[in-house]
Amino acid sequence: MRLLIQKFGGTSVQTKENRVHVIQQIKRALAKDYKLVVVVSALGRNPDPYATDTLLKMVDHPTTNNSKRELDMLMSCGETIASVVLSNELRQHQVSATALSGAQAGLITNENYNEAKIKQVKPDRIKHELKNHDVVVVAGFQGRTESGDITTIGRGGSDTSAAAFGASLQAECIEIFTDVEGIMTADPRVVDSAQRIDVVTYTEICNLAYQGAKVIHPRAVEIAMQAKIPLRIRSTYSNNEGTLITSSRVDKIGIDIPDRLVTGIAHIDSITQLNVTVNEDDLEAQATIFKTMAEADISVDFINISPTNAIYTVPSIVADKATLLLKEKGFAVSVRNNCAKVSAVGAGMTGIPGVAAKIADALVKNSVQILQSADSHTTIWVLIDEKHLKSAINALHEAFELNKITEREKETTQ
Ligand code: ADP
Ligand code: ASP
Ligand code: MG
Repeated sequence: MRLLIQKFGGTSVQTKENRVHVIQQIKRALAKDYKLVVVVSALGRNPDPYATDTLLKMVDHPTTNNSKRELDMLMSCGETIASVVLSNELRQHQVSATALSGAQAGLITNENYNEAKIKQVKPDRIKHELKNHDVVVVAGFQGRTESGDITTIGRGGSDTSAAAFGASLQAECIEIFTDVEGIMTADPRVVDSAQRIDVVTYTEICNLAYQGAKVIHPRAVEIAMQAKIPLRIRSTYSNNEGTLITSSRVDKIGIDIPDRLVTGIAHIDSITQLNVTVNEDDLEAQATIFKTMAEADISVDFINISPTNAIYTVPSIVADKATLLLKEKGFAVSVRNNCAKVSAVGAGMTGIPGVAAKIADALVKNSVQILQSADSHTTIWVLIDEKHLKSAINALHEAFELNKITEREKETTQ
């Protein structure tokens, strides 16, 4: 049996008209003799009635003291509804389909409600249903604990569900259908000249995804990589092949394509920079600050510690909480709101001089001040004021000539 996983995101299943395109994609695969596990996200985006954020608003999240376990019960409803709606419409289009919740499909997680980790997938029920149906529609983003509680696996998690089912069923490919033509050199909503990347390695895309390119969840890429199953990101609304994510960009022996200097520019907004004043004689203070953040489950970034200051960033949504906790411990904190993190990601930048200089030059020429920076072997990050986000991303995209990536790569492989 040839098996494919197809995952359709919130915008793809938003309306009945959109779902006609979804059904066409499913039929196209069935015509090639595949059986399908179709993983769905909740229908649409806030304020659509069953979108995840709309459901969360019903209990005034995050302002009230909600039970995380109950939030998972609530959030899971979005994907459950989507699975039943699509399964029903498939049958109306003469496709043999049935729907399963994440729990029924055997997705077992730990008990870390809202951000649960997948422990294993028990695929027996899906395999059984595939004997009687051509398509099993599974609710993404949700699973259950060993003891039967409903869990969700973190925002954007339907991609991860799709990868987990793909790995456990050893599918031929995991196709992620969305509202763009594939993975682009930057978010096409921000950079008009962003180019689609045809083939990219798991590692390259994992870095981009962790830095905010939300077109694919990084955990999904890691799972597919471990299982050695190709991922394809493509549009629900066209027949283009999209972007293939695999272990190597070289499909012919003897051809060696160098790693890209910069593969893409990613960004994360809604970041707050905190500058905590530290008494130089108080050595303990440096540790206390970060222990306080860890105990409150607040993730920190752009950490820069000196004898007199600890400067770092937190997601804006928890900035008030972080500041309050620090003040309670007697620290003086100054806060810079509305920051954004821009990342230039590329495996080929390792050991190449001048990449940071190029970034600084491009930003300065566009009057964008760098508030903080950091780097690793494959990524350079800059923190900037959010109001410069669009011009900063466009400046870096242009500086690394990412709008010409397709032409350049055609030349290399000829
Ligand atoms: P879905 O609901 O299908 O999961 P998402 O909204 O999670 O869709 O992801 C698709 C969106 O990701 C696109 O609409 C696009 O704006 C955004 N995006 C961010 N970075 C990139 C990128 N590098 N390439 C393509 N899309 C990107
Ligand atoms: N509906 C969930 C979310 O909005 C999961 C997903 O779309 O992948 O985060
Ligand atoms: Mg998504």
